[in-house]
Amino acid sequence: MMKNLIGLSKEELAAELERLGEKSFRAKQLWQWIYFRGESDFDKMSNLSKELRAKLKENYTLQRPKIITEQISKDKTHKWLLEFDDGQRIETVYIPEEDRGAVCVSTQVGCAVGCKFCHTGSQKITRNLTAGEIVAQFMVARDAYGEWPSPTNETRYLSNIVVMGMGEPLHNKEETFKALKILSDGDGIAISKRRITLSTSGIVPNIEAVAAELGVKLAISLHASNNEKRSQIMPINKRYPIEEILKACQKYQDIMGMSRMITFEYLMLKDFNDTPEDAKELIALMKKFNLGAKFNLIPFNPWPGCDFAPSSNNKVHAFSRLLEAAGYEAPIRVARGQDILAACGQLKSKKQAGNPA
Ligand code: SAH
Ligand code: SF4
Repeated sequence: MMKNLIGLSKEELAAELERLGEKSFRAKQLWQWIYFRGESDFDKMSNLSKELRAKLKENYTLQRPKIITEQISKDKTHKWLLEFDDGQRIETVYIPEEDRGAVCVSTQVGCAVGCKFCHTGSQKITRNLTAGEIVAQFMVARDAYGEWPSPTNETRYLSNIVVMGMGEPLHNKEETFKALKILSDGDGIAISKRRITLSTSGIVPNIEAVAAELGVKLAISLHASNNEKRSQIMPINKRYPIEEILKACQKYQDIMGMSRMITFEYLMLKDFNDTPEDAKELIALMKKFNLGAKFNLIPFNPWPGCDFAPSSNNKVHAFSRLLEAAGYEAPIRVARGQDILAACGQLKSKKQAGNPA
């Protein structure tokens, strides 16, 4: 099988060209064709010599993953089921807003964390995605909206990236970080690191590195205000309890600065974590660790076979008001793409009701 160049770092691309007997400075031109222009046909790379184009065509591809299905929700949320060379599948979602939007990428096929409320987590882990497979998800979305060459920040619709699809990104740190470095490189796709958010269930040993090695925004899936409750819905909490996560968050902010707010995602589960007492406990916890923090209250998105139910609107709003009274931003996330199972926690790549694949 021919080697796919998508997902190679600048240095790796230069090394490939040297292997072909080319000067490594050609790598910059090739990089721009791949990531700035989104070109997938070597023949169209007009500033490269004919000989080089022929050699590239003989040895490499720039093929995107195969689109198995594509669904667009009534609210315009767009979901792709993608298949890689080995037949493994993942989902990618584009969530449009008025004049911008976020592409939600997956980092693993399935997930080993096994959170009780998450559809992906019920699928077990099959494998990590490579950097190329993560980058290619964003490229598929850009292909669909014709956003090549990379438009300026102000005029692009695919403006943000959220690493909130299938998988736990900090269980696949190397490939995820490599992918996000490629996606944020200013000579290519150029999504600024301030517009990239990595969400984690709290893999403590790798949290500081999100600041030290990468510098993107951090979101923590907290979902409970004490260890007893959190362990009930997130078994990983026994390994990495809340206090350890919040200490790692302090280290993140030591590097990034307090103004780089950390988002705490809090899923509102009926009769489980949605009372005013829960909110007060959460506030006390946050005050103790003195973090630059904001909340994102997530209405639970049901999926076939799940045991949980969403909290009532009244409870969610009351919860939000308490956090805001304590000085924290606490918007309620609007569920998007529910009708096509594209909302948070609903992604899954195995055959399922509502997913025609
Ligand atoms: N593994 C990472 C990133 C992917 S999950 C993480 O857990 O953070 C992205 C977000 O969706 C997380 O905050 C997760 O807790 C949330 N989520 C999972 N299942 C959900 C569901 N059924 N309804 C709403 N949000 C859910
Ligand atoms: Fe994995 Fe995140 Fe789902 Fe938990 S919520 S099972 S960590 S994808």
